[in-house]
Amino acid sequence: LDVIESAEPSIEAFLHVSADEARAQADAFDAKLAKGEAEGLPELAGVPIAIKDMIVTKGIPTTAASKILEGWVPPYDATVIEKLKAAGMPLLGKTNLDEFAQGSSTEHSAYQLTHNPWDTERVPGGSGGGSASAVAAFESPLALGTDTGGSIRQPGALTGTVGVKPTYGGVSRFGAIAMASSLDQIGPVSRTVLDAALLQEVIGGHDKRDSTSIPMDVPALAAAARQGAKRDLKGVKVGLVKELAGEGFQPGVEARFNEAVKLLEGMGAEVVEVSCPRFPYALAAYYIIMPSEVSSNLARYDGMRYGLRVMPPAGVPQTAANMMSYTREAGFGDEVKRRIILGTYALSAGYYDAWYGKAQQVRTLIIEDFAKAFEQVDVLISPTSPSTAFKFGEKMDDPLAMYVNDIATIPANLAGTPAMSIPAGLSDDGLPVGFQFIAPQKRDELMYKPAAALE
Ligand code: GLN
Repeated sequence: LDVIESAEPSIEAFLHVSADEARAQADAFDAKLAKGEAEGLPELAGVPIAIKDMIVTKGIPTTAASKILEGWVPPYDATVIEKLKAAGMPLLGKTNLDEFAQGSSTEHSAYQLTHNPWDTERVPGGSGGGSASAVAAFESPLALGTDTGGSIRQPGALTGTVGVKPTYGGVSRFGAIAMASSLDQIGPVSRTVLDAALLQEVIGGHDKRDSTSIPMDVPALAAAARQGAKRDLKGVKVGLVKELAGEGFQPGVEARFNEAVKLLEGMGAEVVEVSCPRFPYALAAYYIIMPSEVSSNLARYDGMRYGLRVMPPAGVPQTAANMMSYTREAGFGDEVKRRIILGTYALSAGYYDAWYGKAQQVRTLIIEDFAKAFEQVDVLISPTSPSTAFKFGEKMDDPLAMYVNDIATIPANLAGTPAMSIPAGLSDDGLPVGFQFIAPQKRDELMYKPAAALE
């Protein structure tokens, strides 16, 4: 809490610091420890954590960085929050993000800009820039994020932290505010691969309150990370995805990536090039499927049930429909509106087959590419993001320039595979570079081992 106080004026990672709750939770844990009742708690018991403000927390304001949820205090905890509390992990507060997790720089927050600790004139990535900056600036040892198209991994890359998107369905989405439900996944942000593994073991597992939760136990992730730390990768087959490198990637990013590949080989891994020929279409498919789901999920913010309500001005009929229009006009920012309009268009009668239906077909082809690749190798690798952290404002006027940031992270969301980003040194500009591992569905442990070896 002291570090948060001193760092926040220059970082602005937190939308809300829950200092009193955190102290009470820490005291409760200390009391347990003193009475010898901490036996059997996970290794992370007592370690504090920051939460992306896209995850609901009972009694603590939750905004999704949107004006439409300003002042909303959830009456319940997300499953992951219940699990953190049961593990004795104090909650430090809620971190900033792009509104409703839509963006790659955290600049689309309705409240504040979060700064990258490596250079405070640059963005921390997004949408989970708050969680990544909080961990990178040592304000919190751990954080939770949500990843729909890269929002845990890309900020990890841009801030030199570890970010993991678990297998879709491996961590409960109950209480994660929905952006695009078939893509969303909660996951760990940390400074080491082992920390991420320990955290995923705490938050993972089946939850009957999430209909897409996979009925399986969490794989032995910490054991895999500890194995990897021995830096012996004999027998591990690694596939370098041809389509996720080269053109469009900053030379300094490529250079660090190639050096890391040599290190993997030096530890005994067999690295081969694999082709995923449909990956170049993943970005286009994502930017149809995601807004379609956004347009449907965000229909619930209507001024009726919770959050902001704006009544029509005098002279305008005081109808429910008008109230909804005025509320949504005032409550949503430009990027969110852009996606609701795009998604509504893509789903409308007559266009559905041409846009949404086609994008779903492309999604199937990408799943096939992964299946073929994983017949040959255990894990796939690529740079996480094509560039290092960019300056504030640089990509704000050009949505397409912003969307291209997600080129390497999106395939894993479309296929539901686990993926993670770890730091891979600094580019020529002195800024962190991220290295991505992707493993087959339900085999998250396969990426933790080589990731721990490389870090
Ligand atoms: N940057 C991506 C987008 O804008 C990813 C968002 C996310 O993962 N939440 O959609």
